[in-house]
Amino acid sequence: MQNIDLQQESLSQRDKKHLWHPLTQHKLSPEMLPVARAKGCVLTDDKGKDYIDAISSWYTAVYGHCNKHITDKVTEQMLKLDQVVFSGFTHEPAIALSEALVKILPEGQQKLFFNDNGSTATEIGIKMALQYHHNLGNDRQVMLAFEEGFHGDTFGAMSVSGLSIYNGAFENHFIQVERIPVPTGDNNTEVISILKEVISRRNIAGFIYEPLIQGAAAMKFHDAEGLNEILKICREHDIILIADEVMTGFGKTGRYFASDHIEEKPDVVCMSKALTAGLLPMGLTSCSMKIYDAFYSDDIGKGLFHGHTYTANPLACAAALAAIELLNSWEIQENIKWISGSNEKFASKLNEHPKIRNARSRGVILAFELNIKTERYGDLRNQLFQFFMDRGVFLRPLGNTIYIVPPYVISEKELAKVYSVIEEALTAF
Ligand SMILES: *Cc1c(COP(=O)(O)O)cnc(C)c1O
Repeated sequence: MQNIDLQQESLSQRDKKHLWHPLTQHKLSPEMLPVARAKGCVLTDDKGKDYIDAISSWYTAVYGHCNKHITDKVTEQMLKLDQVVFSGFTHEPAIALSEALVKILPEGQQKLFFNDNGSTATEIGIKMALQYHHNLGNDRQVMLAFEEGFHGDTFGAMSVSGLSIYNGAFENHFIQVERIPVPTGDNNTEVISILKEVISRRNIAGFIYEPLIQGAAAMKFHDAEGLNEILKICREHDIILIADEVMTGFGKTGRYFASDHIEEKPDVVCMSKALTAGLLPMGLTSCSMKIYDAFYSDDIGKGLFHGHTYTANPLACAAALAAIELLNSWEIQENIKWISGSNEKFASKLNEHPKIRNARSRGVILAFELNIKTERYGDLRNQLFQFFMDRGVFLRPLGNTIYIVPPYVISEKELAKVYSVIEEALTAF
């Protein structure tokens, strides 16, 4: 009897019974769209309608969905070793991944600590900075971060993220943090003097930053030289530099990591999202020997006593290793180049349009603000989202900011379609 009932109800209706979705006020939200399949750059819903995934499913599936090279490697691994405790044990997928990653990470990154997602990757970065100073006997309890940054939804990560209405219930439980504005080029001198004032007033342990592009702040770009200056001053004061590359990592800015565009290198790098190419959840926090050595001791208490049950899951490691093989391939590197070139041209074209402000691109990331007077940005955002979805393109505007982060395997025809629905929106709105 129950089975017959289930068949008559749509997936959206069944979804409503027991599921609680992330970042959602269910009372105000429409039904969730059931997705049945994904292949390459295309998501297909339960009614058979296709959508080009123009944001790589939140910057993860950059080699395309269900990529055969990756699924083959994971299947192979699945039949050999599925899971083992990573405390006291090790395995080849984790070792091979560490060797492949160290070759492409920013200079100086030597040790890898596994975790489960982007939030825990930054959480460990924060713990590394705080415990580094604790282990050295320094009184440094405060973190430094950019205004409007986003580093995740666990407590440490929330604390260093820009204050938002979503975090109100937890503010009294945050770790100590000081915030500085991002350098825009025009305000660099001012930002540096704010930084120096903060450093003189507070005992800063570490600085966490999204290098060059703040994703959740609506793809806000900042100035590489200004950031470099900030990093140099922090380093002079032994403030641990934590680059949150969860969004920017693995080719999106045109280089392996956004930190590759900046002279001053981080002490710690946080990774997730494209790390496992959208196949399995995993995060990683890498660090330099300077950090590792501060924990390496005969005193057991100086160790990093943090661990998740699924640490270095062999399947996730196999996915990440296969992803890096693709990233290193000539084909993907060439694709990143042509998408970057194409985006750059499209951005200059957009900048000539009267309804557009600040069209910008770096690597495969393109963003701009729609300059439309509206009472409620939330409504505009929802209308834009629906406009694009109706035309078979999945984009996720943030307020009046529209951005794309296409998979590296997007075809010229698919990318042209993404651009053309954006241009259509400029006429329609
Ligand atoms: C997405 C994101 C995070 C959080 O990652 P989750 O896997 O969603 O926890 C942290 N930092 C940045 C820059 C991100 O874009």
